Parts: sequence; structure tokens; C-alpha cells
Amino acid sequence: MNEITGPLELRDDYTSIIVSYSTGIDSTGALAKALELAKKLPRKTKKFLLYCDTGMEYKINTGLFYQVAKAFKLVPVLLQNEKTFLDILLERQKWPDMKNRWCTSYLKTGVTDKWIRANRHMLGERVLFITGERRDESPRRAKYPELDWQSTTLKTERKGRFICHWYRPVLDFEKGKMFEYGKKLHIPPHPCYEYVNRCSCMFCVFMMDKHTIENMKNHPQDAQKWLQAELKINHTWKNKMSLNKLWNENCEEAPMNIIV
Ligand code: SF4
Repeated sequence: MNEITGPLELRDDYTSIIVSYSTGIDSTGALAKALELAKKLPRKTKKFLLYCDTGMEYKINTGLFYQVAKAFKLVPVLLQNEKTFLDILLERQKWPDMKNRWCTSYLKTGVTDKWIRANRHMLGERVLFITGERRDESPRRAKYPELDWQSTTLKTERKGRFICHWYRPVLDFEKGKMFEYGKKLHIPPHPCYEYVNRCSCMFCVFMMDKHTIENMKNHPQDAQKWLQAELKINHTWKNKMSLNKLWNENCEEAPMNIIV
């Protein structure tokens, strides 16, 4: 039995921990749990805070990310795919959907895995990757395991020894607890929680229409490029809803063409 075939359990000898941080409240909760856990790890364990900029983020996110990394003495790792959300959207001429969630795979998982693979040597042989999913967010998340193998793990030692565990420490917590953790860490909730329920990409296709309208109202300038992109590719944001329709019917600014 070796590290791969043996039982999957949290270890106390990770060489690096990487906290995936979106600036949202669930990843703040995950950060709090990660900081608790880090106290039990060797002092030399490297600690990283990782943020993936999809290109559809709130403008303040990058600043918030660096502030948090500095406050908790974590090494900041800001990742961007070479093609942004907009580049890929214009290229594919289709918005992502449940069947083809290309945004997550290119702009989040893909860049993260690429960075881990490229930095195995610096990260050391045993890495813990920490994310903030919660079961009550969606039926898909409800099925996630708390601890799993992250895909960058080397299954054989042919290319070297490297294991990466994927830990979801707040899976069974409720959202209210995440805000409590934020308070404890003195990290104020992202301002978007004043008008939306999730801190995701600003015009995420899985967001409720009413929240997209709120994002458009609060960030009308940022909305423009997505409205124009939708017209350009002639493919609606959701199956039965276009961003332009939401804008025209709900936002005060000059109406644009409707493409439904
Ligand atoms: S938040 Fe939404 S749009 Fe952004 S990567 Fe995730 S699923 Fe895609």
C-alpha cells in the first residue's frame, strides 16, 4: 500500500496548502477553516491564496484578494486563462450551460490544475487544495465528498511523487455560519451581498434573473460588453432569456436591441 492506494484521510504533514478564494462568503468560511487547520501543520508548510479571474468578475475583487492574502500572510496566486471569458464566448458563439460548462473548466479548474502541475516542484510532494462548496447550494454540490483526490495527483511515481488532496471543509455548514467566520476573521462581506445572494461571475448563466438585473443596475458600465457580445453572437444568455431583454425591461439606461 502506498500514498495513493492507502486510505484517503487528512494528513498533518502537507508541504503546501492552497486555499481557493473567490472573495465570496463561502470561500471566506473555507479560509477560516484552512487557517485553523494550518495551526496543526508544520511551520514550514507553504500557504497560498488562489484567485481565478475569469474576466467577468467585479472590479474590486482583485484588490480584495490581495488585501486578504496580505492580512493572513498567504502567498497570493492570481490566475487568468490566456483567453478570457469574453474571448472564449466570441470564439464559441455560445454561452455556457449545464451540459457544457466551459467557463468553469477553462477559467477556473483548467488554470488551477495547470498552475499546480507547473509548480509541483515548488509546492512539495503533499498538497492540500481547499475550496468552499456547501451541500445546500445545489443538488450537485450535495453529492461532493469532503475529501477527494485532486486531479493533479501523480498516480504513479514514474514522473515523481506528488499527491494533492481536495478538501471541502464547509460542505455541511449553513450560509449564516460563513458570515460568522467572516466576522471572526474581520473580513467584511463582499458588497455584492447587498443586492445578490451569491458572489459569482457578474452575469453567470446560472444566476437568477432578478440578481442579474441587480448586477446590471449596480454595474451598468460592466454590463455593456456582455450585452454587446450577446447581440454579436446571436445566442441568448439563457435558453429562454436574453441579457438584452433583462436590460431593456429593467434598467434605466438607454434601451438596446432585444434579440429574443
Ligand atoms: S460563476 Fe458561473 S459563469 Fe462564472 S465560471 Fe462559475 S459557472 Fe461559469
